[in-house]
Amino acid sequence: MKVISNNYKNQPRNPHQVPEQTKRRVEKVKIKCENCGSILEVSREDTHTGYLGLPYVTCPCCNYEMDIEEFEDDAIDICASNVKYPTHFTVSSKEFKAIEISNEEINKWIQQGIEYFRENKDEYYYFTGSGNALVHIYRFDGDEEYYVVVSKDYESSDVEFEEEDYA
Ligand SMILES: [Zn+2]
Repeated sequence: MKVISNNYKNQPRNPHQVPEQTKRRVEKVKIKCENCGSILEVSREDTHTGYLGLPYVTCPCCNYEMDIEEFEDDAIDICASNVKYPTHFTVSSKEFKAIEISNEEINKWIQQGIEYFRENKDEYYYFTGSGNALVHIYRFDGDEEYYVVVSKDYESSDVEFEEEDYA
């Protein structure tokens, strides 16, 4: 066979069909610190596993932590067997640029929670939240009381199911 004109390179390629090994593995990236604006050159060795199992780096100038998207192929799944506090947790107010929730809103949530328990006498746990706040309410029938927790700027993590966790 003889190739008269090789047009392979000119074909618009579907990125989903590109085999894994032809994707260029980025080893070094230049980033701007999201907090202080310092320009950093970051390599994979500089990262540690953080929230959601993503590769994170700590800015040497201001100590701010941020994930490096270019290295996300290094991400690991967080599940019961490897979850670690505080490594794999993040503060709500930081990660989601969460808005401050007013006391008025929180009071509304507490009332909604109590209302929920009055209508669902078999339930013993309720939570609701948004922005930087989370309200948990537990019903203790024995003590005849509700235990209400208001968490602000709380830390949280997503822990994936493993085999033992499925019903
Ligand atoms: Zn910084």
